[in-house]
Amino acid sequence: MITKALQDRLAERHHQSRYRMRRVLETAQGPRVAVDGREYLLFCSNDYLGLANHPKLITAMQEAAQQYGVGGGASHLVCGHSSLHHQLELRLAEITGRDRALLFSTGYMANLGAITALISKGDHIIEDRLNHASLLDAALLSGAKFQRFHHNDLDDLERRLQKLPPTGNRLLVVDAVFSMDGDIAPLDELAVLAKKYDAYLMADDAHGFGVLGGAGAGSAEVFNLDQQQLPVLMGTLGKGIGSYGAFIAGDELLIESLIQFARPYIYTTAMPPAVAAASLASLELLSAESWRRDHLQALIQQFKRGAQDLGLPLMPSNTAIQPLLVGDEALAMTISANLDMEGVLVSAIRPPTVAIGQSRLRITLTAAHSADDIATLLAALDKTVPVELRIAAQYK
Ligand SMILES: *Cc1c(COP(=O)(O)O)cnc(C)c1O
Repeated sequence: MITKALQDRLAERHHQSRYRMRRVLETAQGPRVAVDGREYLLFCSNDYLGLANHPKLITAMQEAAQQYGVGGGASHLVCGHSSLHHQLELRLAEITGRDRALLFSTGYMANLGAITALISKGDHIIEDRLNHASLLDAALLSGAKFQRFHHNDLDDLERRLQKLPPTGNRLLVVDAVFSMDGDIAPLDELAVLAKKYDAYLMADDAHGFGVLGGAGAGSAEVFNLDQQQLPVLMGTLGKGIGSYGAFIAGDELLIESLIQFARPYIYTTAMPPAVAAASLASLELLSAESWRRDHLQALIQQFKRGAQDLGLPLMPSNTAIQPLLVGDEALAMTISANLDMEGVLVSAIRPPTVAIGQSRLRITLTAAHSADDIATLLAALDKTVPVELRIAAQYK
């Protein structure tokens, strides 16, 4: 019986301290939110530039809704591809320095669509062990032979590439910025390996696009990789860009192939045109106002210095994702609940999102935070993170 099986699985989740609950936000995304009528400082949003509630994005969406209405109406291939979607694709191609870009409704769908369009049974896909769930799901769905290499371990990757049989196409896929760890893939070296072993390289820049690089074009800009070196560049619009949706950017051949063969592109309704308008407005801010990226960098440095002084178990990250490694899921939940009482919202990330024994507090900083907010966060962590987790040598 399915009902019995579900009851058992839910009970087990509870027992393992892995049960997940949703908080109901009563305000817009921002550094301060209300939950249950109480105000909290928020440190778990992916709205890295603080644009999700920006007046220019709101106005752009309102005006576009006046002109284009709300509904997408149909899939892009039927009659849902509006001029706003089209403009956004042109702009994304320009920003990423690719021939073209193709909009998807979500990042999950972009990954599923691209990977299943590129490879199938008889082909090979190699991914970093810590890749996002959507990339792992896509590999399974593709039917290709799937293997994972140790996180950011180029020697392990090369050994696996050497052992691949000569038959079948090869796709190498990584998160550019790892979503639960905050560290960065060595895309330059991965591009060299991909070329050497005749593999097509794909990077998921969900956490880099908008945030990294002098112009905000993300990880490909940081590593200065063009569309020959990094042929499949995926980015999302719901994180740093503060809107919703995702895209794949690359050469003409790639994009035309995705339009023909990417099922999560073909068989779904186009996102509302007004959402595309909000993304366009955000991309304008991206080029016009680089201060958000600079401010965010300053906050990251402030947080890392402060956390180090407190001996907090930081992970090796220089991005806006600054996880504190706790280990045990119940302890991670307890610290998160104690932070709640201090008025600070940070989510505890537990298995199966991360490996067993790797539970953590995934702290994220945004350009909408102030230096005072970071000081408040550090004081709350000092109060709530138990001494046994502190790194003694650094704890003064
Ligand atoms: C969030 C995320 C996605 C999914 O993007 P959505 O637009 O939220 O569906 C894909 N990959 C990574 C690495 C992500 O962090």
